[in-house]
Amino acid sequence: MIYIGSHISSSKGYAAMGRQALKLGADTFAFFTRNPRGGSAKEIRQEDVDKFLKIAKEGGFGKLVAHAPYTLNACASREEVRTFAREAFADDLRRMEYIPGNYYNFHPGSHVGQGTEEGIRLISEMLNENLKKEQTTTLLETMAGKGTEVGRTFEELQSIMEKVQLSDKLGVCLDTCHVWDAGYDIVNDLDEVLEEFDRVIGLKRLKAIHINDSLNERGSHKDRHARIGEGRIGLEALVRVIRHPCLERIPFILE
Ligand code: FE
Ligand code: FE
Ligand code: ZN
Repeated sequence: MIYIGSHISSSKGYAAMGRQALKLGADTFAFFTRNPRGGSAKEIRQEDVDKFLKIAKEGGFGKLVAHAPYTLNACASREEVRTFAREAFADDLRRMEYIPGNYYNFHPGSHVGQGTEEGIRLISEMLNENLKKEQTTTLLETMAGKGTEVGRTFEELQSIMEKVQLSDKLGVCLDTCHVWDAGYDIVNDLDEVLEEFDRVIGLKRLKAIHINDSLNERGSHKDRHARIGEGRIGLEALVRVIRHPCLERIPFILE
């Protein structure tokens, strides 16, 4: 069983996203919880959610992978940026409860010169302040390591998660472009990369995959996506990811 879908605009609400997914033949999808480059969120209407839940049930949708705004940086150096991160994160988790049982994915953040260790501390602090037992599972996305991004190695993600009390509410969303740019050879050594993920984090935490190609060489730390099959990773390697027996039932999002 493979769940596969793409990113869908949330501007017209949940039911519209569900209909669009059906039209695309998708059985999962990703969407932004709020304005990705700003932060404002639209009011959620119960009626719209109910329509969506019906569509999702009839369409046999797998887990959706909601995406936090890019402006959410839990380890910013400026207090007001961290405050926005905390508030948006908490509000997003509350909003996710309209469609319970899905995933909420966020970029761990950029430490902007404070150092990886301090970044990891601030991210785990935000998680500890906001995770609740009864809420949706939150995913940390693997990052390319552009600038001062935290989460460029499996070890960094693990080190955030092991500082979190409710760490069973956490998982990982692996982005193929990002891990490639971070240096993991998913083209020639996919098995070895997944074994390493298993050793460092544990495959049971791998909850979603962003399928992206990359414009740059492995280890470039650039994070520039290419159209599928038109980058350095290539179609064949991405198909191997989708077909990998360890990754069955995980939602694949074509970004
Ligand atoms: Fe992302
Ligand atoms: Fe991604
Ligand atoms: Zn990216």
